[in-house]
Amino acid sequence: MTILETPKTQQREVDIVWQNCLKIIRDSISEQSYKTWFEPIVPGKLEGKKLTIQVPSQFFYEWLEENYVQLLRKALDYAIGREGMLEYSIIIDSGNQKKNEPPIAVNMPQHSSPVARVENTINDSVRSPFEMKDLDSLNLDSYLNPNYTFDNFVEGDCNRLARAAGFAVASKPGVTSFNPLMIYGGVGLGKTHLVQAIGNFMKNKAGNKFVLYVSSEKFTSQFINAIRNNSLQDFMNFYMQVDILIIDDVQFLSGKEKTQETFFHIFNHLHQSGKQIVMTSDRPPRELEGVEDRLLSRFKWGLTADLQTPDFETRIAIIQKKAQAEGISIAYEVIEYLAHSIDTNVRELEGVMISLLAQASLTRREIDVELAKNTLRHLVKDSEREVTIDTIIEAVTEHYKVRIPDLKGKSRLREIVLPRQVAMYLAKELTNLSLKSIGYHFGGRDHSTVIHAIQTVNDLMDTDKEISGAVSKLLKMFRK
Ligand code: ADP
Ligand code: MG
Repeated sequence: MTILETPKTQQREVDIVWQNCLKIIRDSISEQSYKTWFEPIVPGKLEGKKLTIQVPSQFFYEWLEENYVQLLRKALDYAIGREGMLEYSIIIDSGNQKKNEPPIAVNMPQHSSPVARVENTINDSVRSPFEMKDLDSLNLDSYLNPNYTFDNFVEGDCNRLARAAGFAVASKPGVTSFNPLMIYGGVGLGKTHLVQAIGNFMKNKAGNKFVLYVSSEKFTSQFINAIRNNSLQDFMNFYMQVDILIIDDVQFLSGKEKTQETFFHIFNHLHQSGKQIVMTSDRPPRELEGVEDRLLSRFKWGLTADLQTPDFETRIAIIQKKAQAEGISIAYEVIEYLAHSIDTNVRELEGVMISLLAQASLTRREIDVELAKNTLRHLVKDSEREVTIDTIIEAVTEHYKVRIPDLKGKSRLREIVLPRQVAMYLAKELTNLSLKSIGYHFGGRDHSTVIHAIQTVNDLMDTDKEISGAVSKLLKMFRK
């Protein structure tokens, strides 16, 4: 399948060029390596400055890419010049179990060499020739949102490592051992913010570096368009010139084999040329299903750092920072209420703050705890998760016919204590709130009181039918 019908004259030229390459290569590596990795290569064809060589297998190709990319570059420089490009074609031998698969296309652009343009970096005369048909989104825009910076990324235990690694990478892209840097964490925990901050920092510091932020969705659709428009080579070339590639939400590449393969080549090329790669994912690499092992193993080369749900203090700091950024002052009481009520993720916290601001300006009201409560309730009603600590408390007080202030108050009467304990139990079951935050909503009780309440209800449910009935009824109300 890879018999290339090349005219005799050209064949001779390609042979000469390859012989010249081999001269350089032979002088640079051991006899053994030369025999193993370079003797089996057959020069294919030469088109302008593009040399195509035939290699015996995918593995062979990857090995060359991994180990000899710089050497090949040097050889090309010598034999063709700096614009020299290399393309591989992979020969599938008949003994290979892959023989029944559709052949890997000769000169398949994905296999075009990452060697190509190794030395090309940032000057615009190199970039501008790539006119993408229908890929106009691929201009030199970095797709960075200047609002995401390190300055407004609040540090806490939840993100310390990731932030520090991000900062190290931003300060010395491609140089630290954090290459690639992989940031993972649940939705709304600041992955995009952090990697954008890295990009912005680098862009401001080293203006001549080509920083590119791209979501994996966008990468995928660009790739598909490139195939459709026969401009895959342009697509590859474009990405291979990037100095700092930031690719967001790589879990999106799961199961997209062709896209992954292309990404893999770009990745290898950039990495080998000392370019920085930053990625995010909503789960740790080992849980990325449908991502090829060889890609996964690349993800493990650098550093993997996670972002966790911010703790209470960090939530307070984030709210304060956002309020400051909006130029408004919010009473500490309200901030505390919010921090104790929303502990899922930062995006949700922000969403509530925005609505709160809107509410306050619409109704010309002060932002107080009452307004915060109402806002939260309305927001929650509109979302899937109809559970807040306040709706739980309301349901419990309704069921037991007691008053909210009593539930939150100091009364030790059994008619009050039991509903209070049930409400705490439900809060633990139905929300992610910490014991400390639950205690806060019950008149500032401490976490040991909450633990005691939960245990009591647990015990009672085994022995008291009425209580277990009430608890399951209330649970059902919320778990529709
Ligand atoms: P993800 O990409 O992980 O889903 P984002 O980066 O989009 O999350 O973050 C959601 C929102 O929360 C953004 O507006 C971001 O600015 C904000 N945010 C997240 N973490 C922090 C933090 N540590 N400090 C300040 N803002 C944060
Ligand atoms: Mg994101």
